[in-house]
Amino acid sequence: MAKQVSCDCGFMVRTESEDELVRHVQLHAKDIHQMEVPREKALEMARTVESTVTV
Ligand SMILES: [Zn+2]
Repeated sequence: MAKQVSCDCGFMVRTESEDELVRHVQLHAKDIHQMEVPREKALEMARTVESTVTV
């Protein structure tokens, strides 16, 4: 299972690793939205997807 986060701006990230997901979300939020996203919040935004299925 992979985890996926979609941002309102159209950005999407999907990884197999929670740590990586959080890092990508935090980087994106900071770069694009000048926002600090706590780990909990990033994980809250995430949904679990089948890693083999292209959405
Ligand atoms: Zn965004």
